[in-house]
Order: sequence, then C-alpha cells, then structure tokens
Amino acid sequence: MTKFIFVTGGVVSSLGKGLTSASIGMLLEGRGLTVRMQKLDPYINVDPGTMSPYQHGEVYVLDDGSETDLDLGHYERFTHSPLTRDSNYTTGQIYLSVIEKERRGEFLGKTVQVIPHITDEIKSCIHKLAEPGVDVVITEIGGTVGDIESLPFLEAIRQFSLDIGKENCLYIHLTLVPYLKAAGELKTKPTQHSVGQLRQIGIQPDILICRTERSISREDREKMALFCNVPKDAVIEEKDKDFSIYEVPLSLVDHGLDSLIVRKLGLGLKAGLPELDNWRQILHTLRNPKHEISIAVVGKYAEHKDAYKSIYEAIDHAGLHHAAQVRVGRIQSEEIEREGAARLLSGYDGILVPGGFGERGIEGKIEAIQFAREKGIPFFGICLGMQCAAIEFARHVVGLNGAHSTEFSKDTPHPVICLLDEQRNITDKGGTMRLGAQPATLADGSRAREAYGKERISERHRHRYEFNNMYRQQFAAHGFAFTGTSPDGKLIEIIELPDHPWFLAVQFHPEFKSKPTAAHPLFAGFVGAAIERHSQRGERLAEATTS
Ligand code: GLN
Repeated sequence: MTKFIFVTGGVVSSLGKGLTSASIGMLLEGRGLTVRMQKLDPYINVDPGTMSPYQHGEVYVLDDGSETDLDLGHYERFTHSPLTRDSNYTTGQIYLSVIEKERRGEFLGKTVQVIPHITDEIKSCIHKLAEPGVDVVITEIGGTVGDIESLPFLEAIRQFSLDIGKENCLYIHLTLVPYLKAAGELKTKPTQHSVGQLRQIGIQPDILICRTERSISREDREKMALFCNVPKDAVIEEKDKDFSIYEVPLSLVDHGLDSLIVRKLGLGLKAGLPELDNWRQILHTLRNPKHEISIAVVGKYAEHKDAYKSIYEAIDHAGLHHAAQVRVGRIQSEEIEREGAARLLSGYDGILVPGGFGERGIEGKIEAIQFAREKGIPFFGICLGMQCAAIEFARHVVGLNGAHSTEFSKDTPHPVICLLDEQRNITDKGGTMRLGAQPATLADGSRAREAYGKERISERHRHRYEFNNMYRQQFAAHGFAFTGTSPDGKLIEIIELPDHPWFLAVQFHPEFKSKPTAAHPLFAGFVGAAIERHSQRGERLAEATTS
C-alpha cells in the first residue's frame, strides 16, 4: 500500500519547503523507494502561467505542457518522480473542477460545499498519484499554516489519515526557529504557535523540521518536542546552507530524517541502505573547482532571484559537469540600454539571454547579443533570447533595417519573428501557446548535434511566436545556420553561427531538463566554451605581460 507524506510550512513563507520536500523525495529514492511528488497551491489562479515572474518566480513547464509552480523544478532536479498535470493543483483548479461537475449535475441536487465537496476533490487529486508500485506520495502544501486560503487543503489532509489509517500518513511541518540577536538566543515560540494552529485544525505533526541560522541546542529541541507534542528525535534541525543547496539532503540524513521517515511509515522491510554517493561526489566537485568563470544572464527580471530559477540551476549543473565554479552576473537588459553593452558585459566569459514576454528591455538584449556576436563571446539564447538573436542578425548583418518581432512591432517592415498562424486568437492569454515537449531534428555536423550526440531530441516549449520562414534563405546566405527544426522542417528550433566560437540559440527551454547529476548538453557546451574563452584570455594576458 502506498504511504503518504504531507509537508506543511509555518511561521513565515519562503522557508524552502519545496527544496526540503524534494530532498525528502531524493532521500527516499536513495533508499530504493519509488516516490511521487506533488504540490498543492492555495492561490486562485488556475495555474501560474498568467502570473508575473515578480509575483511567482519562473513558470516551470512540464513535458505534458502544464505550466506549474517552480517548486516542481526542485522535484524534477532532485528525484525521478515523473511529473504531470496531476503534480500541481491550485485552489482555482480544484474549484473549477467542482463547479464544472456541479454544472453537469453530478452532485444530484445536493448543496455543494467546501466540506465535503472541495475536500473530496483535493483528496482525489492526492490519490491519483498512488499508482501501483509507488511506495510514497509526497504532497507539499503551499502557503503558510494560518492562511485562510490553505484551510481546505489542511482539512483534506487531516481527513486523509482518517480515511486510510494514521499508520499510512506522515505529517511533516517545516518551521522557522529565528535567532534573536538582542537576546542572543534562538526562539522556539513561533514554532510552538504554528504547531498550535495545526493542532487546532486537527493535525498533529509527526516530524518538525526547523529552519535555523544556528545549531539548535538539546534543551531547545526538548522544549519544542514537549510543547509541540512530538518525540525528541523527531525535531530535526535544518541549518541554513550558504555553500550550496546540495548540502540540504545530506544534512537531513546526518540528522536522521530518512531513517525516521522509514521507521514511522513502517517501510523498514522495503527500504535499503541510503545510497547517496552521487550526491557526495557533487559536493566534492563543488568544493574543488578546476576553473573559475563568469556568465552574464541578461534579462528583464534579472534582479528577481527566482525569475530565471531553472536557468541559474542549469548553469550550475554545467559548471559541475566541467568542475568549474561559475559566477553569474544578473544584468538587467534595460541597464544595457542606458550604460551600453561594452561597459556592463566586457568582463564576462559567456552571455546568456533567457526567455521572456513583453517589450521592456528588448533593445538591451539585442545590444548584448550584438556585443557577443561581434566580440566572439560565447552566447546562448533561449526562447525570446533566440528571437532577439534573429532580430539582431537581421538588422546588423542581413541589413534589414527595422526588423522586429510582431510581438513588439505590429507594422515592422521585416517581421523576422511572427505568429505562425496570425489567425490565432491571442487575446485569450491562457492556452494559446505552443506548450510542452515537442520533437526536433538536428542537422549533421552542427554544434547542437555534437552536444546531444543524437539526431532526434525532445524539448519543452512555452511561446507563441516563431522564426518567420520567409527569411530563411536570406539569413542562411549570410552565414546563419538553422541546425534544429521540427521533424517536418517547418519550425525553427535551433540556430547557430558556425564562424563564431560558440553562438547558439534555441526556441525551446532546455533549462527545464537539466539535473545536477546530468547537466543539459547545451548548457554543458556553452559553459565549456566559456571556460575555453577564459583560459585563452588568461594565456593572452600572460603573453602580454612576459613579452
Ligand atoms: N514572447 C516570446 C513568444 O511568445 C518568447 C516566449 C519565451 O521566451 N518563453 O514567443
């Protein structure tokens, strides 16, 4: 029988519940168990697809095209749990589904209520993941205990153990144990209050994971155990990690979390010994880098640390792949418009322009790409980054003055990027995009083909606009290579400049498929090229000083 773990959060938001849940998944997989990961989000948007990155960070796209919370990125990077649209539900989706059922008359004249109809819907979404062969379903409840919005979710998980038996469920509560400078001590009261709130709604946490800046003393652990009604060994410390997020799972193992979960869920017979060598190797590599390079990420939301989350992670993975420490400079594209690319980008070994929507900062991105192209700096363009690379090339190499994307200039004389089907109704902001995994074919002898090591690939998409095929010949005549297309050849997926040290851009989002244990081949190629440039620059510098 499948077991269920529920992860809730208390005291404050942004405690790293996603990372902790992903780490729990990884630890259980490391013991040979099959896990499924899920996030339930209390907000009313049907999905995060329509939310600004300022509100919600990046939108994480799955193979099946669902637009999900960025925590699913942690799940996918840390575990092998397949993720689908059943892996992320919002209050909006739950209500939508219940209301649609009501309209179809499925409730047979009953009054439709939060309990039992909404809570039943939530429970059925959790049950969906418990397929045969799955040992543990880990469900993270978004938001903070005490929020009005999360109440139906908490009520549903409370009922869950009543339905399937307490021995099959585990409630893990993540809290903050703040350090009060003035008092010179850690404070356990917020945790006591937060657990108090959970218990008021009928949930007694089995395990407390305490986020803290400093180590928690035995006395403080005992105090929390007593006041929160959990055994002492179930108060687990999760100290801030300033070196790397990859330390989180290992430190949880050091505090005995995996053994505790296995014991409490009665999985002892099934679970093997922890197998985490891969992970230890990652930390070893991180601590002993062979190279040090810097990459500029030029985007509209550069100042927001979660807006390009998967991009930053994928750069880290590529760094790991090459045993390189990569310093990432987040550059706002509008700043390039004000200060110039040369001033802001000269010191970098590689330039990456990520995806995006909307016109703000576009000219800065184009300027950054021109700088990378002309100075021979490795360049990687992603989605909007590829579209900007095409616009830049059109304007400055092909000589198409005023070239643009119809997303930003409806009456440009040279729409090098446009809607594939201008008939499509783009006023409806949801559901008109090319979304999810799609196949592409790679050209022989291209850098892309060499990086992937195969002809046929599948990558995730999230965009409306495409390269305009009318311009293909003109571009090709000037040395712009189309090295990846949809299998029917109609859609451009990858472009390269073969005469440049490394200039490659893609219409899809490779960052969603990169893992710490398996860097994405294009990110690995890009970072490899940046390392090469860095060492060449070093050699040139050495020559200049000795001669
Ligand atoms: N705004 C562009 C489009 O819709 C690019 C989208 C993206 O970068 N994800 O096609």
